[in-house]
Amino acid sequence: MSGILDEIRDAYAPWSIEVEGVATYGTYYRLRCGRCGKILGAVGDKLLPGMAHELVQGNFDLYAAGLMGCACGCQAERANAIDPARAADARTQLR
Ligand SMILES: [Zn+2]
Repeated sequence: MSGILDEIRDAYAPWSIEVEGVATYGTYYRLRCGRCGKILGAVGDKLLPGMAHELVQGNFDLYAAGLMGCACGCQAERANAIDPARAADARTQLR
């Protein structure tokens, strides 16, 4: 396993998003909702080391407002758990 894949996994873990270890095509890995198993997209492993956390964290407001993440609401709930005040702000601004 590459270091970058571990880093990507680690970055998505707080959001309850699983990164599948087997490349589906090329160097992309499937993202799957940790609660309901729905496929949420794919992530490439061409990220520079150290960027994964920043990239995922940069989507905080979108996850909080339900504009990214699973329709089951899992990631929006995670946003509430991670930073309730910021999550509430994001919902107000983006909805
Ligand atoms: Zn889900």
